[in-house]
Amino acid sequence: MFGTILTIVVPCFNEEEVLPETNRRLRKVLSDAAQEYLISDTSQILYVDDGSSDRTWDLISQFSEESRQVSGLKLSRNFGHQQALIAGMETARLKSDCVITIDADLQDDVRAIREFLIKYHEGCDVVYGVRRKRETDTFFKRNSALAFYKIMDKLGVRLIPNHADFRLLSRRALDEFVKYQEENVFIRGIIPELGFKSAKVYYDRLERYAGRSKYPLKKMIQFALDGLTSFTITPIRMVTYLGATFVVIAILMIGYTLIQHFIGRAVTGWSSIILSIWLIGGIQLTAIGVIGEYIGKIFKETKHRPRYTIEENLFLYERQARRVHAGK
Ligand code: UDP
Ligand code: MG
Repeated sequence: MFGTILTIVVPCFNEEEVLPETNRRLRKVLSDAAQEYLISDTSQILYVDDGSSDRTWDLISQFSEESRQVSGLKLSRNFGHQQALIAGMETARLKSDCVITIDADLQDDVRAIREFLIKYHEGCDVVYGVRRKRETDTFFKRNSALAFYKIMDKLGVRLIPNHADFRLLSRRALDEFVKYQEENVFIRGIIPELGFKSAKVYYDRLERYAGRSKYPLKKMIQFALDGLTSFTITPIRMVTYLGATFVVIAILMIGYTLIQHFIGRAVTGWSSIILSIWLIGGIQLTAIGVIGEYIGKIFKETKHRPRYTIEENLFLYERQARRVHAGK
């Protein structure tokens, strides 16, 4: 057991207000776990600065100078939460036996980390942190999230309800995860696809410790749509069904129209024509939109652009520094 190197990956976007407290708590978690021999004392916290415009990176550099437990990664601009997580996980993978990802805002209970590690030592490759209740989230956020999980489930996407990006992955699971090279990443949809032995750890979701949510409504909708279209083509299939339904209606309408023609009432029906034009026009545009959404994704994927760019990496420096200080 002694010698398990853990890296805690923490994505941070303008988190100067919470970071000092987060750092204090996570360092304590690391020290306590090392004392229990759950992890090696060379385990680290890796903060990923996702292009913050406040003092986040200054704080991270300062923390990493203060302690060998802390290192940082600075992305060259804001790439988004998922990309920041991937940057952290891919960097940490090279010298970790397991990685835990957690948000910077302390909404996820850091005490669950100890239980994650126990599950890991019991042989789990994936440990999901699952919120027991979401009372601290707003009414809107709670219900929109619930609706999202329901829709995803109906469309056949396997997600762990009430689990966000607070989880542990073993080295083995990480090695598999990095093979998923898709551009539009929805991490929590990929992890259940990996398989391996997994476990859930329940915790109470807390209030954001300080600062404001970095996920405004627009980003949330984008994220949900991204998740949906990355994992299922059911919406396109629905367009096909809709088209088929309208063909059936059209056949009925042909009969109706011909009958009207032969009994000599063909000129009336302005309303039905106008309504049909609007309705069918609307449906066609929506259908094209749905298909366009997927074509857009294909367009993005085929370019194979890098998912993130690292500007500074203290994680590797840390390794060199450690060699120098090996005598300590
Ligand atoms: N975050 C990030 N890049 C972004 C937006 C958010 O790295 O573009 C980080 C943020 O610093 C936090 C985590 O992702 O650590 C979750 O964001 P937040 O707490 O604002 O989301 P919420 O909990 O409100 O859904
Ligand atoms: Mg949060």
